[in-house]
Amino acid sequence: MDDCPFCQIAAGNSDTELVAESAHSVAFYDRYPVSEGHALVIARRHEADLFDVDPEERTDAWALLDTVRELLLERFNPDGFNIGVNTNEAAGQTVDHAHIHLIPRYLGDVEDPRGGIRWVIPEKAPYWD
Ligand code: 5GP
Ligand code: ZN
Repeated sequence: MDDCPFCQIAAGNSDTELVAESAHSVAFYDRYPVSEGHALVIARRHEADLFDVDPEERTDAWALLDTVRELLLERFNPDGFNIGVNTNEAAGQTVDHAHIHLIPRYLGDVEDPRGGIRWVIPEKAPYWD
C-alpha cells in the first residue's frame, strides 16, 4: 500500500533501516521511541489488525520478535521488556498496519514500573494499592 508508512519500510522505500527480517516479517526501530531500542515487528503484508494476520505470518512475526529481543539484549542490555499491540483506534492504534511493539525496559527508567501495560488505563493500573 503506497500510503502506508510501514509498507514502505518493508519494501525498502524508506530511510528507516531494518533491524532484522524473515520470510514474512520485518523489524525496525520506532521513530519516536519510548525507550532506547524500542522496536516494531510487522508482517510484510498489510493488515490493519493483528488478528487478521494469517497464522503462518503471525508465527513468523513472533519468531522474529525473539530474534530482535536477542539483538536488543546485545546492543542495549535492558533489564526487561514490554511487548504490546494496539488494535483499533479505541486501543490507541495510530498506524494502520499491524505491529508488535518490543519496548526494552531499564531498571529505574520510571519511578515505579509495577503494572507495566496496565498503565494503558492509568486509573486502573495500580491494583495493589
Ligand atoms: P501505534 O500507536 O499504532 O501502536 O504505534 C505506532 C508506532 O509507530 C508509534 O510508536 C510511532 O512512534 C511509530 N511510528 C510512526 N510513524 C513511524 C515511521 O514513519 N517510522 C517508524 N520507524 N516508526 C513510526
Ligand atoms: Zn502497510
